[in-house]
Amino acid sequence: MSIQLVFLGTGSGKPTPQRNVSSMALFRDGELFLFDCGESTQIQMAKSVLRPGALKAIFLTHFHGDHVNGLPGLVGSQTLNQRHEALDIVGPRGLKRWLKCLRELNILWPGFQVRSHEVTEPGIVFEHPEFHIESVALKHRIETWGYALVERDRPGRFDLEGARALGVPHGPMYGRLQRGEAVTLEDGRTVLPQDVLGPPRAGLKIVYCTDTSPCAGAIELARNADVLVHEATYPGGDERLAHERGHSTAADAARCALEAGAKKLVLTHISQKYVRPDIFLEHARAIFPNTVIAQDFFELEVKRRDD
Ligand SMILES: [Zn+2]
Ligand SMILES: [Zn+2]
Repeated sequence: MSIQLVFLGTGSGKPTPQRNVSSMALFRDGELFLFDCGESTQIQMAKSVLRPGALKAIFLTHFHGDHVNGLPGLVGSQTLNQRHEALDIVGPRGLKRWLKCLRELNILWPGFQVRSHEVTEPGIVFEHPEFHIESVALKHRIETWGYALVERDRPGRFDLEGARALGVPHGPMYGRLQRGEAVTLEDGRTVLPQDVLGPPRAGLKIVYCTDTSPCAGAIELARNADVLVHEATYPGGDERLAHERGHSTAADAARCALEAGAKKLVLTHISQKYVRPDIFLEHARAIFPNTVIAQDFFELEVKRRDD
């Protein structure tokens, strides 16, 4: 099993035919999670490989329009698509007020439960049996939260030959050992999980970090990430302007990836003024070589190293 990232919008500010505004889909084991929901996100989804029915939760970083204007339309279409399953929406303070206002004006009339969660402090904002999503404050012109999906470690690989050699009979005892329980054999011997399991297998960590100027929070969030998706509104060399506006350059994103010990960097939230991606890559790769730049519909499959 792997995680698939699909970039639905990779530009900053306003949509253009080349780049739609911010949204990234994360597809994991049949479930879809959206990070930001800029205008036209639902059209981008329809043009992509993604099924909107798989949507489980939406995470909004901040209330600038290029990150949220697609939400009412997307939620409205879920109603028209006969959705009945609850939908979680996580975002900054003000989310509940916004959703209430959309309902009162009849812009939204969801035929399913919308569970809204306002992020008020750093920490875990979403729990799943196999992972959690945590949030850290970023440094932008308004309140902004970055998100990290952190998978739980899984038990080590089951050593079938070893279990047979120890005389564990084929059947339910295999499952109990795999769940970390000791078992007692008919002859009275005890077999411990560590006798037949390899070392625990590390889960993946995917980090979504936009909009922000360089800050300790971004580095903390990106610590040891398998993939760091970071904004790069400007290429490099114009840090002062970028920071004044609460943004980063590609070089800043690369410095964050390097300092955090991330394994791969994906640049997004590219200023629409720049049409050629090479200049972003040049600046970033000089600092952090394993960098790519996202374009709309770019897909990235993230595999676990020990699968
Ligand atoms: Zn933005
Ligand atoms: Zn912004």
